[in-house]
Amino acid sequence: MSELLFSNTALAPALIDNLESLGYHTMTDIQAQTLPLILAGKDVIGQGKTGSGKTAAFALGLLHNLNVSRFRVQALVVCPTRELADQVAVEIRKLARTIHNIKVLTLCGGAPMGPQIGSLEHGAHIIVGTPGRIEEHLQKGRLNLDEVNTFVLDEADRMLEMGFEEPLQYIIDHCPRDRQNLLFSATFPPKIEQLAQHVMHNPEKITVTATH
Ligand code: ADP
Ligand code: MG
Repeated sequence: MSELLFSNTALAPALIDNLESLGYHTMTDIQAQTLPLILAGKDVIGQGKTGSGKTAAFALGLLHNLNVSRFRVQALVVCPTRELADQVAVEIRKLARTIHNIKVLTLCGGAPMGPQIGSLEHGAHIIVGTPGRIEEHLQKGRLNLDEVNTFVLDEADRMLEMGFEEPLQYIIDHCPRDRQNLLFSATFPPKIEQLAQHVMHNPEKITVTATH
């Protein structure tokens, strides 16, 4: 079905060409339903099973909003664990490989501080990390989120299970009010509803039950 092709979206041609070369021809269900809304600038809640392609949905959204000639943090992706943050960073780099000089930095707990501090001094366009470590860099004044235009909460259900409300609140308080919020989760317990109401602005909620 042609409406499921990435080439029918508002994505930049360089991103679409790269998707083709990666073998991403058609969108998965969650991508087909969320990406047009994301590219239109809406706040979106996406609920779909593991493996349904949620990462590319938000990654393409934040890349669409990014101005690479402006070397400031413009997108922030918060994940519950270091492993997930590393996977997300790999996927973003893959999807962004035709954008020259783009810098994606991971800031996760359990990783040594020294190199992170050095990398922060060099700067980044996109930060992917875990809540506690991001909060810590903010508290120490090493990270500035004043130019964030896309804020992503990935695996939001696990984030709440792990008790990350406080650092999340601290991080959100350091982002501009005028930003696009994207929240992805495999499940949608009542606590997520509350979080979404608090963080997001008139979100569109998309639930996909099939994997592809
Ligand atoms: P989720 O976050 O929903 O668990 P992922 O974003 O990790 O799922 O995607 C699962 C796998 O599907 C990844 O290996 C990813 O590269 C692949 N993938 C995502 N979207 C597409 C697509 N449109 N076409 C082909 N492969 C895709
Ligand atoms: Mg995921």
